[in-house]
Amino acid sequence: MPAEEVIVVGGGVAGIACAVRLAAAGVRVRLIETRKKLGGRATSFRDVRSGMWLDNCQHVVLGCCTNYLDLMRRLGSIDLFRWSVEQHWVESGGRTSRIRPGLLPAPLHFAGSVLRAKFLSSRDVLALGRAARAIMCAERQTHESETFGTFLTRLGQSDDLVRRFWAPVVVSACNLAVERVSAAAAIQVFQEGFFAHPAAASIGLPTVPLMRLYDGAAELLASTGGCVELGCGVTRVGAGSVMTNDGREFRADRVVCALSVERAARAIEPGLFDADPRFAPLARFEFSPILGVHLSFDRPVLELPHVVLVDRPTQWLFRKSADGRDVHAVVSAADAWIELDEEEIARRVLQDIHACFPHKWGSEHPTCGSKSVNGPQLLAARAVKEKRATFALVPGVEAIRPAATGPSGLILAGDYCATGWPATMEGATRSGYRAAEAVLGVRAGGLAVADLSATWLARLIGLRTDRGSTPPIVDNLSLRVQER
Ligand SMILES: Cc1cc2nc3c(=O)[nH]c(=O)nc-3n(C[C@H](O)[C@H](O)[C@H](O)COP(=O)(O)OP(=O)(O)OC[C@H]3O[C@@H](n4cnc5c(N)ncnc54)[C@H](O)[C@@H]3O)c2cc1C
Repeated sequence: MPAEEVIVVGGGVAGIACAVRLAAAGVRVRLIETRKKLGGRATSFRDVRSGMWLDNCQHVVLGCCTNYLDLMRRLGSIDLFRWSVEQHWVESGGRTSRIRPGLLPAPLHFAGSVLRAKFLSSRDVLALGRAARAIMCAERQTHESETFGTFLTRLGQSDDLVRRFWAPVVVSACNLAVERVSAAAAIQVFQEGFFAHPAAASIGLPTVPLMRLYDGAAELLASTGGCVELGCGVTRVGAGSVMTNDGREFRADRVVCALSVERAARAIEPGLFDADPRFAPLARFEFSPILGVHLSFDRPVLELPHVVLVDRPTQWLFRKSADGRDVHAVVSAADAWIELDEEEIARRVLQDIHACFPHKWGSEHPTCGSKSVNGPQLLAARAVKEKRATFALVPGVEAIRPAATGPSGLILAGDYCATGWPATMEGATRSGYRAAEAVLGVRAGGLAVADLSATWLARLIGLRTDRGSTPPIVDNLSLRVQER
């Protein structure tokens, strides 16, 4: 019997994705979320100090995130992103290199700008070329038990090159240091996000607070008689019913548990644990923190939409206001920062900004921590720490990432599920779509949106991916037009 009524517990990206696909198939969905807003880890909050809506952290989407972009289209939010095809890498002292796709087909589209990049020596470029070829042809599964650091050492990548090039990319994408992250996960990032298609690495930033991206969900669910229940905490999740913290019990044909992994491990009915081998390993996941720092200056600091800081503890800066006075700094894999107080965090981030934009403070740029007389003054800083931002993609973790279905009948969704993707909005969406397939009895992958199609040259060189062929939802031409 096809399910007519389904409960989805958890209104993060995975839960929303599942609920939206089910509603599109005519299913009545009750989406239950403990907070008063949707989005989970990818949402916004009202800052009591400034009264402004802030995102808990800048969330970036790449052109290769085909399923997440499909979800945004279904929610009516696809136009609420600003796209750019280029990245700016800024070194201490201010020297800036621009990395952007050129005329050559993928995977050689970045070759020209990498050759011209000032932060890379010609020896670095040669080493990168060797490693790129190896990564392109690597079979991911055979690298699941080693770290990317070990893999890079074998490929002769110097410590300096790892710090300057590999680390900023991998730490931002996988939220784990190169020395800790599984090589398979890092290889996936380069194969999908860089080599397959010229639009794969295009960067999309929401132009509205993250929580606004989900505004269309309630109406989509209501169209088939479903609803979004906000402010309703679930205390127990069973295969056909859930209990809420106000004592209500809801029953349905199927239940999808779209909680984060640590909460799922606590909420799943104890009786189901013995019946289903997917559940006991949930307690073995480790986590990695991310720090987002909102900064406001009295004068413009950042003209570019976003920059990578080369070999600095702060990895990315994002321009948050058109005039460049509001800046958001991101530190991924932020273990060393998480116990610091806000003042010290702001001081360290400022130190990195001063180092990379010394011209903003004149020739006498300030000693960190001291007030600059000539340069921009920091008016406000707000640090948001997410201690359990993502599960840690350490070697061996793929073996415990659960499938959507198992013998208990409870369906799982969440970025930690077995999607082959890191803990990202794309991974969460894929898991949500897979959970919807399980409810609907559709074959695995039947609701998934195909990856960007690899170019003929990438295929000829031997790019190892298991991909379909889909044109980018946001095409390269419109990306160029919308840039900056
Ligand atoms: C600081 C930070 C920065 C990030 N940056 C990026 C980025 O740039 N790009 C990217 O793609 N990804 C990024 N991510 C990762 C991305 O946010 C997550 O992978 C994704 O949002 C996870 O979605 P989810 O639905 O699996 O889990 P969650 O978002 O954790 O959703 C679970 C939901 O369950 C709800 N819930 C919890 N307990 C209960 C209960 N008892 N009853 C009912 N509901 C409950 C929660 O409130 C939440 O809404 C970032 C994450 C963080 C934390």
